[in-house]
Amino acid sequence: MYLVLMGLPGAGKGTQAEQIVEQYGIPHISTGDMFRAAIKEGTPLGLKAKSYMDSGNLVPDDVTIGIVRERLAKDDCEKGFLLDGFPRTVAQAEALEEILRDLERQIDYVLNISVDTDKLMQRLTGRRVCPECGATYHVIFNPPKVDGKCDKDGAELIQRKDDNEETVRTRLEVNMEQSKPLLDFYKEKGYLKNIDGDQEINKVYNDINKLIGGLAK
Ligand SMILES: [Zn+2]
Repeated sequence: MYLVLMGLPGAGKGTQAEQIVEQYGIPHISTGDMFRAAIKEGTPLGLKAKSYMDSGNLVPDDVTIGIVRERLAKDDCEKGFLLDGFPRTVAQAEALEEILRDLERQIDYVLNISVDTDKLMQRLTGRRVCPECGATYHVIFNPPKVDGKCDKDGAELIQRKDDNEETVRTRLEVNMEQSKPLLDFYKEKGYLKNIDGDQEINKVYNDINKLIGGLAK
C-alpha cells in the first residue's frame, strides 16, 4: 500500500501514522527522518542537503526529490510506505509520480485528515506547559486538577509563544494556502480521501483502516 498522509497542524497526523505503520508493517517516511538518514549515511545527496542546511538555506527541490527517490527504492518500501511531509508542492507531487512510475508503483490513497479551523484553533491554543517540569496540559482535553497550576509541583502553567492565537492562526493559514493546490492535484488524480479528523482518535483510525484494509490483501 502506497500512501501519502496529509493534514493541517493539530489534525492528529502523528498518532494516525503510528498506528498505520504498526498495523501494516510499512515504513513511515517523513522528510526529516529521510534527510537525517541520508546525511548519516553520507550519500552524495545527503551531503549536499547538509551543506544547504548548515548554511541555513532551504534544501532545493532537486536534492529533496533525489533523496526521496533513493529512499523509496529501498527494499523496505517494496510492500508499501506512508509518506508524511512530502510532497509539499504540486511540483514535488509531479516528481513523486515520476519516481513511482519508474518503480512501477502507484499511490493508492492520499489520506487527508481534515478538521475545521475553529476546532484546530481550540486544540492548538489550549496547550499549557509547566516551566518547572515540562509537563503538558490542555485546558479542555487534559486540564490540570487546579486551574493554571501543574499537578506535580504546583508551578504556574504557561502558554508557549508558538501556541498563542495569532501565531497558530497564521501557521494554519499558511499551511492551508500551501496545501490547497496539492489537494486539488490529488483530487483530480482520484487519490484523495478525506478522513473526518473531528472524532475520537480510535474512530478516525477505524475510518482509515476501513479504507486501506483492502489494500493489504
Ligand atoms: Zn510541573
